Amino acid sequence: SYPTQPVARIAVIAGDGIGREVMPEGLRVLEAAARRWALPLEFHAFDWAHCDYYLAHGQMMPSDWKAQLAGMDAIYFGAVGWPATVPDHVSLWGSLLKFRREFDQYINLRPARLFDGVPCPLAGRKAGDIDMLIVRENTEGEYSSVGGVMFEGTEREFVVQESVFTRTGSERLLNFAFALARSRPRKTLTLATKSNGISISMPWWDARCAEAAARYPDVAWDKQHIDILCARFVLQPERFDVVAATNLFGDILSDLGPACCGTIGIAPSANLNPERRWPSLFEPVHGSAPDIAGRGIANPIAMIWSGALMLDFLGGRSSCDARWRAAHDGIVRAIETVLRDGPRTPDLGGKARTTDLGSAVAAALA
Ligand code: ATP
Ligand code: MG
Repeated sequence: SYPTQPVARIAVIAGDGIGREVMPEGLRVLEAAARRWALPLEFHAFDWAHCDYYLAHGQMMPSDWKAQLAGMDAIYFGAVGWPATVPDHVSLWGSLLKFRREFDQYINLRPARLFDGVPCPLAGRKAGDIDMLIVRENTEGEYSSVGGVMFEGTEREFVVQESVFTRTGSERLLNFAFALARSRPRKTLTLATKSNGISISMPWWDARCAEAAARYPDVAWDKQHIDILCARFVLQPERFDVVAATNLFGDILSDLGPACCGTIGIAPSANLNPERRWPSLFEPVHGSAPDIAGRGIANPIAMIWSGALMLDFLGGRSSCDARWRAAHDGIVRAIETVLRDGPRTPDLGGKARTTDLGSAVAAALA
């Protein structure tokens, strides 16, 4: 018999496009994991934060969205965006980016791993060669929205958009990244920077990293300028373990890293409020993929793996035991099995359907 656990309340938001197709597969696997490891999960579905809702109501979410979600332990999110009817900046800023900012999800964690059975676009790599964690600052930096256009329509027209790095925001990001590096076998951290070109904010960012490094003397670290870092992601991806980056650089690297590992259809992400003051959000890296939506062929692995990250995070609650970590590891092993042995969706070179992969992962769990 297991000790009593607090129920984990999970908000389920499928969103748009293939989000609605991969979400049922993610839930199928989470339910299988909950049965196998006796995890008290409670799912609450919300039928908003999608573009049909916007067309009907003129906003992406109800006005009390924050109150509706604030009591949740996590948000399991599919994808948002349907540019044929609603511009992406409206749908994104009206939902996902509100969650990230209002729930202070200042860590965006994106693993990139090469699996057996997934064709790697880089020559000569095999499973296990690439295994990195990109830690992106998720609330400030280059995406500050501070700025404006002046003298519009005249010869003097110009535009300014500031980058804003706060000491608190940088320190908490870097501390999190160093602690994560310490918990991994290689204990290595790479800082993405551009202090040779951006001459005020980036040397300051490097200095914050050096301060954080002094608190984690057992972690080996170096800093690399974003241009050569991108080149090395492609040329020597095996040298990276934890990579810490500002909002913009992290955005770029966290598409590049998973791209080096084959399909975008398997890459998961976690948007974390590590203090658990607000719910954290778990979602695939990919978007709503209108080009393949409605055909039942989207790869659900990114959604499923994001669910595993969610269980791992939920297990970090103070009174919880090792079953959550075991469930995370079990799901990742089931994903390894299915990627190696099939079935395969078209992005993996096969003809299988979304539901085939979801069922196969759930079966591999049992
Ligand atoms: P974003 O929402 O980040 O702006 P996007 O709309 O530019 O992303 P995606 O929706 O991620 O892009 O789609 C990019 C490409 O990857 C498309 O061709 C899409 O079909 C493909 N793709 C995305 N997700 C999957 C998936 N789960 N399975 C198969 N193919 C996918
Ligand atoms: Mg999109």
